[in-house]
Amino acid sequence: MDFELGHISPAGMQFTELADKHSAEFATTADRHDRENIFPMQNWESMRRSGFLSATVPEELGGMGVRAIHDLVVAINRLARGDGSTAIGAAMHTTAFWYLAKLLRRPPAALGDQRFIVGLRLILRRCARGRVVACVAISEQGTSLGEPRALAAPERDGYRITGRKYFCTNSPAATVFLSSVRIPAGGERDTLGFALIPRETPGVTVVADWDALGMRASGSGAVVFDSCHVPEGLVMPGGPVGALSAEILPLTMTGALVLAGAFLGIAERAQGLVVDALSRRHAASAGPPYARPGVTEIIGENEADLAASRAVISRTAVLLDEHLDPAGEPAVPLAELHELMKEVQSANMVAKHSAIAVVDRALTASGGSGYLTSNPLSRLYRDVRAGLFMQPFSALDAFQYIGRVRLGADLGPDL
Ligand SMILES: Cc1cc2nc3c(=O)[nH]c(=O)nc-3n(C[C@H](O)[C@H](O)[C@H](O)COP(=O)(O)OP(=O)(O)OC[C@H]3O[C@@H](n4cnc5c(N)ncnc54)[C@H](O)[C@@H]3O)c2cc1C
Repeated sequence: MDFELGHISPAGMQFTELADKHSAEFATTADRHDRENIFPMQNWESMRRSGFLSATVPEELGGMGVRAIHDLVVAINRLARGDGSTAIGAAMHTTAFWYLAKLLRRPPAALGDQRFIVGLRLILRRCARGRVVACVAISEQGTSLGEPRALAAPERDGYRITGRKYFCTNSPAATVFLSSVRIPAGGERDTLGFALIPRETPGVTVVADWDALGMRASGSGAVVFDSCHVPEGLVMPGGPVGALSAEILPLTMTGALVLAGAFLGIAERAQGLVVDALSRRHAASAGPPYARPGVTEIIGENEADLAASRAVISRTAVLLDEHLDPAGEPAVPLAELHELMKEVQSANMVAKHSAIAVVDRALTASGGSGYLTSNPLSRLYRDVRAGLFMQPFSALDAFQYIGRVRLGADLGPDL
């Protein structure tokens, strides 16, 4: 019997099967890419060709039509077992397109400008034809996520965008950057905006400077926007700067949960590797692996942690699907969105802390062979550590946010 997370819709089944196939394919090169610090362009080409990258595009626009957040989490969870670096990039891309598809389901009046709807359809169709890879470029050095310094200055027919982002996962493969910007409001509180900036826009530079402890094949380097003109229809307002508004909460909570699924996948892979290694050792020697009580206990503790993570992630995905999908997000009151985000952050912290513990214990149980660079466990040990840095929220802020929501604190712009 297998108690791994499973799809809940027919489209999700197709997506999960494809994820398993890609996971097995990417696992064969993940260690080499990690060691050589190479961005695996061929993984992205493969996901583009198979239709994996257009899974969340509606069927009528040529995609697979995956709508359930649960299925998005499951597919990324499976992919991460093979290659965590590619999985976090695929998580960003597919969540971004899940959100764009969701926007299109809103009543046209709620979307405002007709040019925005036309632009949205166009980019979703292009994604379905395998022509688009999205990079979510939000983080900037020295400022918090909701307070971008990247400026979108209004001009004729659009905006002129200038700024520098870092940690831009899969930027080497990206054809479009979904980037947070600050729109000056003339004396009022500035507005947070999300701009879709095509890579070919004059002034875009992908710096390709990624060299990190783990997730080394994720291509999470810097991207510079130097006076880039972006047409009006490609910039979406996201509420006042500094606040987690009703406009951005659904996207950020979905992204956070999908990423938690990736870190669960890394932990599952570590446990699978060590159990396999112990079984082989059993075959080659006198006693069974459980003859050593310390090892048996570690494997048991890991199983318990994995079961808890799967349960909390799956339950939270179901909650999001129930509350976000039918209503059309603007109809969900802000306080309720914060309650949902609290559940996502609780799942996020449980899953990421326990993923780190599971991989660490797997390494201990490996008895030392896992410490060798040639053993995938050493890569998993470094990759899994990335989870707690990723926002929103990192380990520095998550529990405070959860506590504030639970205690009914004012979640105003100082969040
Ligand atoms: C592998 C990986 C992939 C990533 N991919 C992406 C991606 O695709 N897109 C993206 O946008 N981001 C991405 N991120 C970035 C991530 O989500 C975080 O934004 C990033 O790790 C934040 O790091 P930071 O040092 O800039 O900021 P922070 O962690 O916010 O802070 C840095 C330091 O400043 C301190 N500090 C912060 N605020 C205050 C304050 N008010 N007062 C005093 N001290 C303060 C903190 O305590 C901390 O020590 C990725 C990160 C990783 C590790």
